[in-house]
Amino acid sequence: MTRVPVRDDLQALEGYHSPQVSAAVRLNTNESPEPPPAAWRDALAAELARVEWHRYPDRSARDLREAIGALHGVPADQVFAANGSNEVLQTLLLTFAGPRRAVATFEPTYQLHGHIARLSGATVVEGERQGDFTLDLAAATRLLAEARPAVTFLCSPNNPTGLVEPEATVRALLDEVPGLLVVDEAYGQFAPWSALSLVEEDRPLVVTRTFSKTWSMAAARLGYLVGPAWLVTELERVTLPYHLDATKQIAGRLALGFVAEMETRVKQVVAERERITRTLQELPVDTWPSGANFILFRPRDRDGRAVWQGLLDRSVLVRDCSGWPRLSGCLRVTVGTPAENDAFLAALGDVLAGEGGRSA
Ligand code: PMP
Repeated sequence: MTRVPVRDDLQALEGYHSPQVSAAVRLNTNESPEPPPAAWRDALAAELARVEWHRYPDRSARDLREAIGALHGVPADQVFAANGSNEVLQTLLLTFAGPRRAVATFEPTYQLHGHIARLSGATVVEGERQGDFTLDLAAATRLLAEARPAVTFLCSPNNPTGLVEPEATVRALLDEVPGLLVVDEAYGQFAPWSALSLVEEDRPLVVTRTFSKTWSMAAARLGYLVGPAWLVTELERVTLPYHLDATKQIAGRLALGFVAEMETRVKQVVAERERITRTLQELPVDTWPSGANFILFRPRDRDGRAVWQGLLDRSVLVRDCSGWPRLSGCLRVTVGTPAENDAFLAALGDVLAGEGGRSA
């Protein structure tokens, strides 16, 4: 069979992989440890029974966007929804990046920002964070002045470091960006402040969010952005007709009727995050302050990969970042249920107490 070569600019690109390994305790993909409320599932089943399946869904997803807008105190025309916040990012990049345009990231950060930018044909300019993973504003300003990126990314809380970008940093970058500033807040509800408060019609700022984490709906694949209305209109150039199916529109709208339940889950996760952090501080590992539902840590004097394997041998799966650029030796653990977190801490204590994985 003759193979057809892929696009020239894709030859050097690999797909984005997040290995799905089976383990009793899965703390590797930053999902919510709890399912959505049973009342939400019942309400969804009841509405799905009334869907006219032979008809296309509402193309503009008006009801869903109105409900999201109401949550954030903005009109529906400042909201764009898509199949996961990854598709929101893709739509943004197809609209504002692309060939002969630059996209700026500050590494280490969420790998999909650079990856999707490259898929759009844009050139990615990687700024470096400081050793403690905070942003050096002077260096960032220089990079923006030199590269003139059409799109600049911040991720707050940042995946995989967990650090929250201070408001002053976001405001300062807003003064410097020559194009659009995208603040990815996939983990925004776990953090003490949100850039949503800075969104205005005449500011080139969008904030992206997801239903995958705090809303316990990773399986639904639903995300959105809040930004200026003119920008939301521009995105329509790129979106496929009826890109949001009826199930997703209903699922998202109904979820927004359970804000109090969501906030309770967030509080529990934050309390557990603090408990895990305190315990990690008593172990021979470095940690970073997290405003998210996960914690980055680095075993001292140990090979990160070997510790990851030791945890997996005890049926605890965390994310192995140890081979990623700038994250040598680091692992990332998602906050789970109290029982899962206990299992993780016990397994980690056990692995670190053993001789295996001690680096030379
Ligand atoms: N942004 C960040 C920072 C993430 O960590 C993730 C999920 N790993 C996403 C966006 C994408 O989430 P989703 O497509 O499920 O909304």
